[in-house]
Parts: sequence; structure tokens; C-alpha cells
Amino acid sequence: MKILITSGPTQERIDPVRYLTNDSSGKQGHAIAAACAKAGMDVVLVSGPVHIPDPASVRVVHVHTADEMLAACERELPCDIALCAAAVSDWRAKTIAPQKLKKHHGQDELTLTLVKNPDILAHISHHPKRPSLVIGFAAETENLIPNARNKLASKGCDWIVANDVSGGQVFGQEHTSAHLITADQTLHWENLSKTDMAARLVEHILTCITV
Ligand code: C5P
Repeated sequence: MKILITSGPTQERIDPVRYLTNDSSGKQGHAIAAACAKAGMDVVLVSGPVHIPDPASVRVVHVHTADEMLAACERELPCDIALCAAAVSDWRAKTIAPQKLKKHHGQDELTLTLVKNPDILAHISHHPKRPSLVIGFAAETENLIPNARNKLASKGCDWIVANDVSGGQVFGQEHTSAHLITADQTLHWENLSKTDMAARLVEHILTCITV
């Protein structure tokens, strides 16, 4: 069974020394990749820039931008399962300045024009080579379950793992809580290490999928 997993943040360059990114550590996506490998799956992990080691027995493709992440995912289709845990930057700079942006005397503002990045989860969910199970994540600071349910429909995926990230919870932390939302059920997993959360998720995948 081949599983494609995205993990970590993306990094979107503004100029040669600056970029847009976010607080994702990659810990959860990498832990899921490790758990899948332990369960005997063929795992490819497409990872944005993180400060944690590549999991053992996993093929890792390192990328920086959302465009690179999408291209790497495309190359890995077809697969049986796709799990998009990466915190992909919604936006990127319309143009990347070829030289370091200078501040000029008397300048009090800088306007950056951003353009939308591709939505990798939605892209995979609507792909002609769509995996039989597509799993997304939702990091929300309010209305967690309704927002996650909306995301399930708007992205076209099969399951959403919803995390409450308000107050610095989850991102970069060792422990996490999640709600697994599918078309017909919601499971609650409270205060688990990211390794244990990954094991629960993989166990659930294995009970639901037969390839
Ligand atoms: O839209 P939002 O970022 O809240 O959705 C989160 C889910 O969508 C995650 O599974 C994330 O990996 C995925 N996503 C994506 N590409 C984007 C934005 C989000 O794959 N550009």
C-alpha cells in the first residue's frame, strides 16, 4: 500500500534573503510517515523545510515552495492514500525580487502583492488518479468542528483531522488533540503525543481501507 504524505511548512521567497512561512514543525506529518512505515506501507514523504530528521524507512522528497510540493506530489501519483499534513502557505509573492529589498529614506510602508498558491489537498482530491483515501488536516482557532466539516466538503477529501491551534496549542508542541471527521462519524483523540496520535490514525486507516 503506497501512501503519499505532505508535512512541514512551505517557504515562499520574497527576495534572496527573506521568505513567508509559518510555525509548522513537521512533527505530526513526520510521525505519521514513521507510523505508516512501521505498519509496512510504502511511504513517500514530501516535506517542506523542517528541523527534524527524516523518518527511517521512508523516501523523503525535500521541497521549499507550494509549487514544488505540488509538483513532487504529482510525480508520486498514483498511490493508494494521500495525507496532506503540510501547512502550505496560502500565498506567495507575485514577483520574487532578484536583489535584497532595500528600505529607502522616508519610506514608511512596503506593499507586497501576493498571489494564491495551489491547494494541493483539493488538487489531489479532484485528480483523475485520485487515491482511494484522501486525508486533510484543519488547523483552526475557532469553530473547529463546523469549519472542519466545511473543509471536508470544499476540498473534496474523505477525512479531516481537525486541530484546535488557538493559544499556541499543537504547532511545534509534543502533544496534540484531534477530531477525526469523516462523512458519517467524528472520533475524538485527546492529549496524545504526536507519535501516539500517528499510531491511532494509522490503526484507523488500516481498519477502513482494503486495497
Ligand atoms: O485551507 P486550509 O489550509 O485550512 O486546509 C488545510 C488542509 O489543506 C491541510 O490538509 C493542508 O495540508 C491542505 N492544504 C494544501 N494546500 C494548500 C493549503 C492547504 O494541501 N495550499
